[in-house]
Amino acid sequence: MTGTRVGVEELVARRLDSLARVGAKRVGAFEELEIFNLWDLITYFPRRYLDRSKLVPVTEAVPGEQVLLLGRIRNVAALRSRGRAGVVEASLVDESGSIRLTFFHQPYRSKQLSAINDEVAVFGRVELFRHRRQMVNPIVDVVGDQTGRVVPIYPLRERAGVSSREIARLVRTALSEAGEFADPIPPIVRGELELIGRTDALTAMHFPDTMDHQRQARRRIAFDELFRLQVILGLLREARDAASVGIVHDVAPFGPGSAHLVSGFLGRLPYALTGGQRKAIEAIASDMSLVRPMHRLLQGDVGSGKTLVALVAMLLSVQSGHQAVLLAPTEVLAEQHFQSLTALLKGAALPEHRQEVLFHEGDRPVAVRVITGSVSATRRRQLLVELANGSVDLIVGTHALLSEGVNFRSLGLLVVDEQHRFGVEQRSLLRDRVEGDQGTVPDTLVMTATPIPRTAAMTVYGDLDLSVIDELPPGRSPIVTKAAMTPTEIDEAFRHAGNEIAQGRQVYVVCSLVEESLKLQAVSVTAEFERLQGEVFPHSSVGLLHGRMSSREKEEAMVAFREGRTDVLVATTVIEVGVDVPNATMMLIEDAGRFGIAQLHQLRGRVGRGAHRSYCYLIGEAEAEIGRRRIQALVDSSDGFALAEVDLELRGEGTVLGSRQAGRSDLRVASIMVDRDLVEEARHHARELLKQDSTLGRHPRLAAELRVIFDDDEVAFLLRG
Ligand code: ADP
Ligand code: MG
Repeated sequence: MTGTRVGVEELVARRLDSLARVGAKRVGAFEELEIFNLWDLITYFPRRYLDRSKLVPVTEAVPGEQVLLLGRIRNVAALRSRGRAGVVEASLVDESGSIRLTFFHQPYRSKQLSAINDEVAVFGRVELFRHRRQMVNPIVDVVGDQTGRVVPIYPLRERAGVSSREIARLVRTALSEAGEFADPIPPIVRGELELIGRTDALTAMHFPDTMDHQRQARRRIAFDELFRLQVILGLLREARDAASVGIVHDVAPFGPGSAHLVSGFLGRLPYALTGGQRKAIEAIASDMSLVRPMHRLLQGDVGSGKTLVALVAMLLSVQSGHQAVLLAPTEVLAEQHFQSLTALLKGAALPEHRQEVLFHEGDRPVAVRVITGSVSATRRRQLLVELANGSVDLIVGTHALLSEGVNFRSLGLLVVDEQHRFGVEQRSLLRDRVEGDQGTVPDTLVMTATPIPRTAAMTVYGDLDLSVIDELPPGRSPIVTKAAMTPTEIDEAFRHAGNEIAQGRQVYVVCSLVEESLKLQAVSVTAEFERLQGEVFPHSSVGLLHGRMSSREKEEAMVAFREGRTDVLVATTVIEVGVDVPNATMMLIEDAGRFGIAQLHQLRGRVGRGAHRSYCYLIGEAEAEIGRRRIQALVDSSDGFALAEVDLELRGEGTVLGSRQAGRSDLRVASIMVDRDLVEEARHHARELLKQDSTLGRHPRLAAELRVIFDDDEVAFLLRG
């Protein structure tokens, strides 16, 4: 029977005009929607559904809520009175009565709406205006004579001139012509994940009996998309690994024996590793012991202790006779890493037999250095010599480290901290640097806090293995987070800051999000610094830190704060990532509504790093709606995942993946944030499948499907069969 089932490749090969009653004009219209063949049509999914069982009468729509209403358009009027030109009003009428629809800046609406006689679905937020309910600029879709309890509503384009109803009709025809779909997902996987069949799923995406049925269909289709992607990534990974030779590191981090440096280091740590740190280190060590180069992402929420994991990885490299690099996005962070590594490595000695170059007899201390854009030319020359001859083991730096002329004796590991802060150019420089000249490819570990959407995208698209630290070191109490909107609340926040200082604690004040110019930023943060020193904290010592200061000044400001010589640090977002001063217990963020959620979460993470209870005040304007919601999100949650989801919601779908328009190969249904469990499942099952059948020789249907869905050269090459 399976021979009669239709494959994706056959549907891709069938053009739209092979359907009855589709002529050249229709074809042109559908092309505007990027629908060229039957597969495009069948995977052109509704953006919304009208569930008749859930409809509310228009007179019962509740102000403040987003609703979908069904009715007919009446009384269309273009208002021409002075000052209101371009406003179009209409009524939406059903058996219960009517509600007003108001359209601003859409003059074409008057003609368009007047022409509609059929029933329409109207989607938008209900508002009160002069005690009357109305919807402003809602989305209007013609539903027409469609029957069924759940009616699909398709994304439309004005230009195409195709109605949602027409699309539904054509999809129905296409589905019936297609018949039963071939199902390339192995039955055992389908069974384990309780996925519904593909034919059922594709039908129910368009014409579900119930919304529950639609949810099952969506899950199935989302899995298919993610699974295909993961199989492709797996194939790419294998091709890449086959082409590159990495360094086999000597690892045995927790056992006695060969790993003197690491086991000695861990033995001297003042605290125990968390379970998450231990697991991450195990995964890293296992990667580093292989010939295949490591490409791993370490994700852990702010404060979860990623630096320590990175350091252990670097020591694994050093004890194997190689060098390691830690790359940081800012000078402030590079300096801090340098200092904390130096402190952590006090007493760590490299055994004689592990030394690449013997300068003197016996063990020697691990040599750590820092290099940033601001080191003198002489110093830089000296550092380059040390890197090239192997007398430096660990080097911390900014992207200055990537520039020409930096050569290592034997680079074993590259760690990139706060990876998302590096620009695209810097990243490609990095890749060239790593995969460039030399014969062997160093292992790479990139680190980032949870999970700005871009990070999530990277784990799907970026072909990285993932380690997650999902716990914080013990003894951290949650940071008490408060919004300060009114003058009274703001006074209270600063009074509280004064109390913390009186108890010997320290305070950050972050202000001035003037992104346009560092110069303006410097001016405004300096003004705020003067105000705070002069009026608010006249008896405390206040420091200043911003991007226009020289490296030396920045470093001095940071050191003064770390050593407790200043009580308050007034700063721009230069302190956003990584900064670690455990005695600081309060973070005051001015104009907080103007920062993004991820940024606020990072900033808040600068406190709560020591034994004392910590606080974060988010100072904002009550008027700005989006800002207020961002602030509220931080008050409500300290979980990076939950915050990333709110962030997604506030930004709106579609902007998350920059590549959403990338066409057929992209995810249409799956969302890497919403479906992150499915991403994991898909990754796991794809790997299992490739383990058994690395060329897909025994999965011809899957191979055929991948070939047409990802029609680019690289993939074609991998799948040439
Ligand atoms: P992040 O993951 O945000 O980069 P850091 O590496 O800066 O976090 O670590 C945050 C703080 O937690 C540091 O002060 C570090 O010394 C401390 N820390 C790290 N690991 C542990 C642990 N296992 N137990 C206790 N404290 C730890
Ligand atoms: Mg960090």
